[in-house]
Amino acid sequence: MPSSATRDSFADQARKISPPSDAFIGGRFVPAVSGQRFSCLSPRDGALLAEVAECGPEDVDRAVRAAREAFEAGPWPRLSPQGRRKVLLRFARLIDENSHELALLESLDMGKPVMDALHVDVPLTVRCFEFYAEAVDKLYDEVAPTGHDVVATITREPLGVVGAVVPWNFPLMLAAWKIAPALAAGNCVVLKPAEQSPLTALRIAELADEAGFPPGVLNVVPGFGPTAGAALGRHPEVDLIAFTGSGPVGRLFLRYAAESNLKQVALELGGKSPQLVFPDADLDQAAQAVAGGVMFNQGEVCAAGSRLLVHESIREEFVAKVVDAAKAWTVGDPLDPATRVGALVEEKHLQRVLGHVEAAHADGARLLLGGNRARVSSGGWYLEPTVFDEVRPDARLAQEEVFGPVLAVLGFRTTEEAVALANGTRFGLAAAVWTQHLTTAHQVSRALKAGSVWVNNFNDSDITTPFGGYKESGNGRDRSLHALDKYTQLKTTWIQL
Ligand code: NAD
Repeated sequence: MPSSATRDSFADQARKISPPSDAFIGGRFVPAVSGQRFSCLSPRDGALLAEVAECGPEDVDRAVRAAREAFEAGPWPRLSPQGRRKVLLRFARLIDENSHELALLESLDMGKPVMDALHVDVPLTVRCFEFYAEAVDKLYDEVAPTGHDVVATITREPLGVVGAVVPWNFPLMLAAWKIAPALAAGNCVVLKPAEQSPLTALRIAELADEAGFPPGVLNVVPGFGPTAGAALGRHPEVDLIAFTGSGPVGRLFLRYAAESNLKQVALELGGKSPQLVFPDADLDQAAQAVAGGVMFNQGEVCAAGSRLLVHESIREEFVAKVVDAAKAWTVGDPLDPATRVGALVEEKHLQRVLGHVEAAHADGARLLLGGNRARVSSGGWYLEPTVFDEVRPDARLAQEEVFGPVLAVLGFRTTEEAVALANGTRFGLAAAVWTQHLTTAHQVSRALKAGSVWVNNFNDSDITTPFGGYKESGNGRDRSLHALDKYTQLKTTWIQL
């Protein structure tokens, strides 16, 4: 996209895009066996984007069987690591070459600003495939120091068929976090994208074919959770479910596994991440990061800094700065390059978020900013950036994930109280500490029960670092070399010399 791109030029390009809308199974695009399709609407204006194949259990079964056959008899798991590296790098290059189209599709499909899709989602997806492509031919197996004249080798082997089930907030990037390490390790994958945002997954299936993945290595089954998702979770030929999504659905996948073949289940779930601001922090820098930490991607971020915990001595001054910073997060058309907050993913979700706003009022919190639907005449689903102060620690807004641009402010007087509040939810995905004091930074970050802790920054992220949750935010880790652990199993072979 040229740097002079305008809303009109984006809208013009958007009209010309026609992504695949069938399922991708065994290397071919095919309609659902039932012939059913579901309407994929744009949160931007409610317009119909595509009628997408609605996969059910029969389609999922075909996809899993294609993946199983590709794993047991096809070339992919038998290819040398260098061979897999080449195909994955080609795939990364094709995604990069089509980044404009993919960014537009992502924006239209789930409502995020197109500029974020272009500068965040797609480049991070490319980097993820490059990282695992480059990693896979640099991993060594082990020889155990048994001290016997029987040698024990410890080798990593792919698991087999991986079911990847992902949400709609970063559809492409979160799919990449699962399928890149899974494929690099030699597995075959069935990807079920969220029903709200299936289009980029289907488009990259087309690119995967062009990159040269053998048929059946990557399959994509669009459809609804309780039908297609559950069928994948219950399928006896799936070895691992790599899931990102909500806690209640994570629990279902554990149940599906228990009731079927005891497949492994890796869960990346929700959060209620706190930002702890101490009086000696750089308040201007912290205020920008606190506002951005909950407004970015319309607040539809698992690690969103949705709770501000601020020392009482600076509360009034700091909260005023946060409100000012939040006002700069302008709500607008996702295709307008100036927009910072786009549309929420669907009307049902907007109503859910508005329900949290109502509950905050009922719980006695004080509204400082926003709280209303925006851009109603567009036909899309927008909410103003919203800030509530005086939120009680036990209130819904302090305890439950909102997944929208809504900040809850709570005060603290001592470091111990700050840590207790920070750890006082069932989640443990991420947290941030703002202080110039090295000892406070060190002690507090050690005391926080969270998979990622940022000190004097928020949301820094790189494919080289693991990401995942403590407590009910999940288990296992995406990203980094550690992610390969969940897509491989260890074999010990005792060899008599
Ligand atoms: P969701 O749990 O409703 O859906 C996620 C996926 O599960 C979708 O593909 C959906 O179709 C499928 N699904 C839904 N119901 C199902 C069922 N009964 N059986 C099988 N599959 C089913 O989550 P969502 O609303 O799409 O996404 C938002 C959630 O994702 C938030 O809780 C957010 O925090 C979480 N999330 C976590 C991370 C992380 O890395 N920890 C990243 C992004 C999002």
